Parts: sequence; structure tokens; C-alpha cells
Amino acid sequence: MISPGSKTSQDLPPFDAVVVGGSYAGMSAALQLARACRTVLVIDHGQPRNERAAKAHGCLGWDGVAPSQILELGRRQLLAYDRVQWATDQAIEATGSLQTGFAVHCASGDHYHARRVILAHGVVDRLPSIPGLAERWGETVLHCPYCHGYEICGTNIGVLIASKAEAMDQVKALSQWGAVTAFHAATLSAAEMEELSAELKGIGVTLEESALAGVTGNAILNLADGSVRNVEALFVHPETCLASDLATRMGCETEDAGCITTDSAKQTTVAGVFACGDAARFAGNIALAVGEGALAGVAAHQSLLGLLP
Ligand SMILES: Cc1cc2nc3c(=O)[nH]c(=O)nc-3n(C[C@H](O)[C@H](O)[C@H](O)COP(=O)(O)OP(=O)(O)OC[C@H]3O[C@@H](n4cnc5c(N)ncnc54)[C@H](O)[C@@H]3O)c2cc1C
Repeated sequence: MISPGSKTSQDLPPFDAVVVGGSYAGMSAALQLARACRTVLVIDHGQPRNERAAKAHGCLGWDGVAPSQILELGRRQLLAYDRVQWATDQAIEATGSLQTGFAVHCASGDHYHARRVILAHGVVDRLPSIPGLAERWGETVLHCPYCHGYEICGTNIGVLIASKAEAMDQVKALSQWGAVTAFHAATLSAAEMEELSAELKGIGVTLEESALAGVTGNAILNLADGSVRNVEALFVHPETCLASDLATRMGCETEDAGCITTDSAKQTTVAGVFACGDAARFAGNIALAVGEGALAGVAAHQSLLGLLP
């Protein structure tokens, strides 16, 4: 463990790799490097994307287990390797190149040198600004039916339409899990409302005319006209953005969807910089983050050996 501001942090020799983000993807990448007897520093500020969810689902071997428990065990196993160090800090700047080596600067003022950098900082969700919605995020306000749908199978499910273009896909997917009612947040024009309402009626789904104005109780939906609807859960489609701008500041290309562009070895468009997990894919989950973290860790090691094209 490296304490922020400790004198030694500035004087450490370069790590083989610095991993920014110590959750599913980052720890998985670090584990591969540790097992290749390489020195790794994981920098993490402790805000994994699913921290609001009481249980994680759909990840083999961990189905129904609390995210904090999965991460705690992963961290304990990782830190048992003597070449792995951990800094509880926020990386705010990274500079350098494959030729010169990289430097990662942290909010505490500490900085670290490394031969390779792995970005595993994930994304943050931007929720629609409707009163009561953010407070229920991960509990009764959800986004992924594969993560949370089974637990509410066969119940009344609300879906907050993100846009007219996405509405039919959102509703059709969720109809697998329950009886869906569609809601809107006053973002659709009158013409879009009319057209969408007719389309949804065609598949037996009602679009509530009055806009969603707030969420109370477990998942009581308060509409602008004063009426209320009870659902077991409300599914929303949040916008996501990278949790850190390190990739763009280092010159890494990003996709239209916002994630960092990587090749099949999880190397970004900047040599020596790798990215994995939600930061490097649109729509991720724990299993994919762990898998891609392993890929990135192995690729970073191959790169250190000069074996990566
Ligand atoms: C409410 C909710 C529930 C979910 N439930 C499930 C589920 O049941 N099953 C499932 O498989 N998936 C679930 N997911 C998806 C899952 O959380 C993500 O796919 C997964 O967390 C991605 O892992 P990651 O390691 O890429 O990123 P994250 O887990 O988000 O971790 C990123 C880490 O990087 C750190 N970080 C960010 N920026 C910096 C920085 N600049 N410096 C230092 N550290 C930084 C953060 O603190 C964090 O610890 C859920 C998501 C949400 C939002």
C-alpha cells in the first residue's frame, strides 16, 4: 500500500505497469501481470459503477453476491502478490510514450512512473434529472434486465423511454421479463408521442400520456397530471461517459459511443497504453470486464517482452 503524499511514492523506480482503476477490469489486468512476476501499481479511488446495487448477478461463480464482497476478495488475492502495490488516489494526468516511459499524476500530488499504462477506470452514468430517480438507482431504478430482470420476472415493469428511436427496442427487450408500461420525461414532441403511442399499442404496450414527474416510495411513479402508477421497477437508459479524461488527454482515440478504441489485444491507438472494462466497450458487465482485464494484462506483458506487434 502506498499512502498518498508519502515521501517514498515519488522515489519509486518505474513500475512495469500502472493500472488506473482497481475494480473488476483493473484488478484482473493487474493479476495477470503479477503472475508474470511484473511490478504493478493499481491506482483507485473506490467508486465502482455498481456500488449502489446490493447484489451482482449474471457473473458465473458470483451470482447474487454483493459487489463489495467480490471486489474485496479480488483485492485481497491481488495484494498477496508482493510485486503489486495499491494507491488510494485519483489519477488526473498521464504523460509520456512507449519510448520515454509514462508518468501518472494523482490528485494527492503523487506521481508514478511506468513502462505501460492500463486504463480501467470505467464509466459514470448520467441519469435523467427526475426527482427521486437517482436515490433509487441500483435498487428499483435499473438499467440492465440481464443484471436485475430475473428478480422481478412476471411483475409490472416501467420503462422510461430514452428517445423515440430507441423506444421500441427498449420495450421489446423488457417485455421478456414482465408487463411493460412506457413512460416519458416530456422530451418527445406531440407528433413523436402520437406515432410512438400507436406503435407501442400495436405490441400491446401503453405509453402514459402524462410525463413522469417523480419517483417516491419503492417505485411509485408520480405523473405530471397528479396520478400515480405502481411498478416493481423502473428501467431507464442513462447516458454514460468515461469516468476519466486520461485517454483523450493521452491522445487515445475514442468511439462514437464514448468508449476508448482498442484492438483485439486491448491496446489503444497510443502504443503502450491499454484499456479494458466498461471504459473500452459500450455496454459492459462484470464478466466482460474481468475477461477484458485479463486480455489487457496479458497484452501489456507481451508488450513488455516486445512480443506485441
Ligand atoms: C446499478 C448497476 C448495477 C449493475 N449490476 C450489475 C450486475 O448485477 N452484474 C453485472 O455483471 N454487471 C452489473 N453492472 C455493470 C458493472 O457494474 C460494470 O460493467 C462493471 O463495474 C465494469 O467494471 P470496470 O472495472 O470496467 O469499471 P468499474 O467497476 O466502474 O470500476 C472503475 C474503477 O476505477 C476507479 N476510477 C475511475 N476513475 C479513476 C481515476 N481517475 N483514478 C483512479 N481510479 C479511478 C473507480 O473508482 C472504480 O473503482 C451494474 C451497473 C450498474 C450501474
